[in-house]
Amino acid sequence: MTKKNILFFGLLFCSTTLFAQRTDVEGMAYFDEQRHPNFRENIVIPDVNGYRVLKCDFHTHTVFSDGLVWPTIRLQEAWSEGLDAFALTDHIEYHPFKNDVKVDHNRSHEIIEKDAQKNNIILVKGTEVTRSTPPGHFNAIFINDASEFIESQDAAYDKATVMKAAEQGAFVFWNHPGWQPKIKGSYEWIDFVEDLYANQALHGIEVINGFGFHKKALDWCVDKNLTVMGTSDIHNLIQRSYDTDRDYVHRTMTLVMAKERTPEAIREALDAGRTVAWASKYLAGKEEHVRALFDACVELKPPHYTEVRGNGNNTTFYEITNNSDLYFELILTEGNGTRGIVLYPQSSQLISAAADQSSLSYDVVSTYVRSDQHLNVTFNLN
Ligand SMILES: [Zn+2]
Ligand SMILES: [Zn+2]
Repeated sequence: MTKKNILFFGLLFCSTTLFAQRTDVEGMAYFDEQRHPNFRENIVIPDVNGYRVLKCDFHTHTVFSDGLVWPTIRLQEAWSEGLDAFALTDHIEYHPFKNDVKVDHNRSHEIIEKDAQKNNIILVKGTEVTRSTPPGHFNAIFINDASEFIESQDAAYDKATVMKAAEQGAFVFWNHPGWQPKIKGSYEWIDFVEDLYANQALHGIEVINGFGFHKKALDWCVDKNLTVMGTSDIHNLIQRSYDTDRDYVHRTMTLVMAKERTPEAIREALDAGRTVAWASKYLAGKEEHVRALFDACVELKPPHYTEVRGNGNNTTFYEITNNSDLYFELILTEGNGTRGIVLYPQSSQLISAAADQSSLSYDVVSTYVRSDQHLNVTFNLN
């Protein structure tokens, strides 16, 4: 008997109570243990300065453009992954399945609107304005009617369309700048983008899109006070695209620091730029927001022991705790103490410092506050 068969018979004998629950059809048994357990993951991140940290993904696709899934699947994924809010942002101009799926720019959103409410997920209406590179693609979210954004490959229309979205009150962000690096101007602050920006028709940039960190975009966001966005731009199944069985792997998303868990509060936070992009182990954002997030999650406890070694080498021990599902990696930049600290999600580490030290400073190397700069934090020891 193979191992598999032993397991199968083992299950048959052990599961009599399970089968007993499902005797509605005579002559039938059910092997329900094979079903995928259905539950919602909780992503734990403490409040930041009184703001709730909402997990949002405002760039996803379905079969209503070039995605490979029905809208319902996107909702199921968002629910089980613990997202608070997301948007279906199907391309306005690109419909490879148009012979099979009727082109309707509002339909994907409509299909899941009610179910999103039932599942307590905030569904934001959006679309991807998809023009040639440069400048490429722009997402407009918090829109009313996606069909209003005319289809054209004419450069003059490009600008008009994005402007129109902004005029109608949309939040507009530039998608994956630099995704076609061989095309001249695709990763530059070209006049087209400057024009939108000058007309307040550009509000954010994707600093992380899926697996790509657009480092220049982070500097643009910091220097021009645009909102930092992180999105999955998912086309296939999340589980097919992300190796979610591995620790720290989750879809790329935007952490939005909002006054409450409502669409209005999300919009206010996006307009105010209170966001941090989160992908893999990494956080990218403006320094004040990354710092506030770090301070809310990480706590240095008071000293609990000093080892007397004499000759001025006494060493004091501290516990440092990460109260979140985020990951932080720290490298000592100043002071005499533990050189490197890895703060795994919801865990603590022991660190030590020379007893006469008043502070230790670290670069949090799993964060970016500029393309070439990590968050630097100082722990006061007294
Ligand atoms: Zn795109
Ligand atoms: Zn896209």
